[in-house]
Amino acid sequence: MGRIHNFGAGPAAIPVEVLEQAKTELLDYNGTGMSIMETSHRAAAFDVVMKSAQAGVKKLLGLGEDYEVLFLQGGANMQFAMIPMNLLNGGTADYIDTGVWSNKAIKEAKLFGNVNVIFDGKDVCGYSRVPNAGELNFTEGAAYIHITSNNTIYGTEFFDFPATKTPLIVDMSSDIFSRKMDFSKFDMIYAGAQKNAGPSGLTIVVIKKSLIENVDNSKIPTMLQYKSHIEKESLLNTPPTFAIYLLDLVCKWLEKQGGLEGIEKKNIEKAEKLYATIDNSDGYYRCPVEKESRSRMNVVFRLKDEELEKKFIAEATSSGMAGLKGHRSTGGIRASIYNATTIDGINALCEFMAEFKSANG
Ligand SMILES: *Cc1c(COP(=O)(O)O)cnc(C)c1O
Repeated sequence: MGRIHNFGAGPAAIPVEVLEQAKTELLDYNGTGMSIMETSHRAAAFDVVMKSAQAGVKKLLGLGEDYEVLFLQGGANMQFAMIPMNLLNGGTADYIDTGVWSNKAIKEAKLFGNVNVIFDGKDVCGYSRVPNAGELNFTEGAAYIHITSNNTIYGTEFFDFPATKTPLIVDMSSDIFSRKMDFSKFDMIYAGAQKNAGPSGLTIVVIKKSLIENVDNSKIPTMLQYKSHIEKESLLNTPPTFAIYLLDLVCKWLEKQGGLEGIEKKNIEKAEKLYATIDNSDGYYRCPVEKESRSRMNVVFRLKDEELEKKFIAEATSSGMAGLKGHRSTGGIRASIYNATTIDGINALCEFMAEFKSANG
């Protein structure tokens, strides 16, 4: 069939089973005689998909009636602005800076109030780890704390979230649905779907109703209010219907993998295998991330020099492995191993790494 191993950071691999089902249903969705893409967002057929996707997200995260699931557009980047626009209002928010995406969120928040950067990962450690709980001094009375749970570019991930009474808002763009935890400790979770939940064009926002109870919406454009999207159940304007349909299929696929508990086991196995290959290479491959912070989603590593890295990427590509080039800001190699990446893909990469090392030692 010509499918390759896709290690791209995003848009990223989607489970083959999901693509197969979408293919089967593309011309005639469920007896409607048309694709779900060609169906009105107000039609009964789409309503079923919408409700199923919202329920699917809530079920996976184990959240109840006190949360709303919104399907928005504009990507995680739009949330960087929408969050402070709705919640800051001249007050102070705490931001943890663990990389490029946190930085962009901070930049937008400064337009709407005071930002207290309570961890400057660049200064402290060159973004080689996330903070320990003990390092953080929260601002008394802050409107919220903003965290990037997985740093897609630097390959670090939070495994221990701060315990505080201040509302926690988390950008989970690159590790949503990758592991089980108590998601009720978060007041808001958001994610661009294109890494671990489906195609681009859809932003998943899970928000605790109490978080937006006291927002003054009088100066916020309608499309940028959480309240108006909640009231219209994500149908304030035409939503990205096909992306929502694919997300629904991804949620169902995840349930078949044993839910988040099941997928987490596989993700741990995949990440451990790849990190072991790096760590057992006698320094041929080097991971710049401190062990406790190593991401299970984006595995970054370096070779001796840039020339060798270029050769590695070129040869990997011709061996059927795509998307291994590190982010343009950091260089190096990055293997993004989201939920849809199979253990076969990891085995292929690890074998390739061993062969490349013996041939270019
Ligand atoms: C990719 C990414 C983003 C940007 O997402 P868009 O949907 O393109 O706006 C933000 N945060 C994190 C952690 C990401 O990985």
